[in-house]
Amino acid sequence: MRAYDLIRKKRDGGVLAPAELAFLVQGATDGSVADEQLAAFLMAVFFRGLDPVRELPSWLQSMLRSGQVLDLSRIPGRKVDKHSTGGVGDKISLPLAPLAAVCGVRVPMVSGRGLGHTGGTLDKLESIPGFRVDLPVERFVELVESLGACLVGQTAEIAPADRKLYALRDATATVESVPLIASSILSKKLAEGIDALVLDVKVGRGAFMKTLPDARLLARTLIDLCRAMGRPCTALLTAMDAPLGFAVGNAVEVAEAVEVLRGRGPEDVRELTLRLGVEMLLLGGTATDVPSARQRLEAALADGSALRRFAQIVAAQGGDASVVEDPGRLPRPSAVREVRADRGGVLAVLDAEQVGLAAVELGAGRSRKEDRVDPAAGVLLRKRRGDEVRAGEVLAELHAADGARLDAGEARLRAAVAFSDEPPAAQPLVLERLV
Ligand code: URA
Repeated sequence: MRAYDLIRKKRDGGVLAPAELAFLVQGATDGSVADEQLAAFLMAVFFRGLDPVRELPSWLQSMLRSGQVLDLSRIPGRKVDKHSTGGVGDKISLPLAPLAAVCGVRVPMVSGRGLGHTGGTLDKLESIPGFRVDLPVERFVELVESLGACLVGQTAEIAPADRKLYALRDATATVESVPLIASSILSKKLAEGIDALVLDVKVGRGAFMKTLPDARLLARTLIDLCRAMGRPCTALLTAMDAPLGFAVGNAVEVAEAVEVLRGRGPEDVRELTLRLGVEMLLLGGTATDVPSARQRLEAALADGSALRRFAQIVAAQGGDASVVEDPGRLPRPSAVREVRADRGGVLAVLDAEQVGLAAVELGAGRSRKEDRVDPAAGVLLRKRRGDEVRAGEVLAELHAADGARLDAGEARLRAAVAFSDEPPAAQPLVLERLV
């Protein structure tokens, strides 16, 4: 078999056989196919796609098998994870994992780091002093079994083909291909050994997918592919025009997540946690209908059991669990600035992408992969989209290490807001549910 012939076949609209797809994935994993040939193949896929029935499941299967696939079969019960396509202020995994766990679902959660303007669960968790996201596999499995949830990062052994192909896509403008995105996400998620998956596909200014039709296509492709692999999957399409909640950063988002676990917190963060939780309980088989799932989840927030479970998980992963009792012990910024409105009106736009970039300027995210994040940096919004604002009122509080970062963050934050005389159209949080 020659890579050249396979590139030509895909370029001309052909359908590749499973062995041909496996040959290319193997070539990406062990370096036996040259980077320029892999890149050309990815560009051919970008234009020609992968057949959803004859090619995509085989491609994913090869990607998945390029590395380690965890076997969690010794843990009783169904193992269910949630994946978000990435947003701003999206701290949902933090309250959701312990909440679903106390309701009987096993949650082996392998999360990512911040990417561009979007935050990452691992960076947020690491703002808790001592918290370890690089546990050995055995300990991960033990904690999923004993506490019902464990939150870690991807190891080098998981889906190595994806690491190679993603880097090539990043360098060749071939990231935005639905079959490539879907297979990339699922190659990592299914390697966790899950039985089912809940997807939170974000839509809007701060999301990967800016329009509802694009988000719908990605969700449909992910669901069908996951099902083809024998794993049930449900997706919620959710709004990401403005940030979720008030906090965007790392320590500030942990504090907000703790509020939600206390049964308080911003309404949108609480609601999305509950909506995704319902889907996890249904797929996990610990509830049979939406009202009873919702009731169980609300009870676990109200009686403090989800909060206690979060503290246990933090302690088991080496973190200082006293921050759960007292989030004031989380890292504090050296420099703080209030940003005030220079005019009055209705806050019509609070652009999630720009707020996310403000958080990156403040130090909460990375401009380059090797950058270190500042756990204390971030944005605390004081106003939300749709709020009435008077001139001079505080729009947001910025947290950073120094004045230069505050200046850069303030410029971005000011670019995120627009005022009008009319209230903006109300936007639902959950736009669609796809099964
Ligand atoms: N996230 C992934 O893991 N892969 C993609 O291709 C895009 C987003």
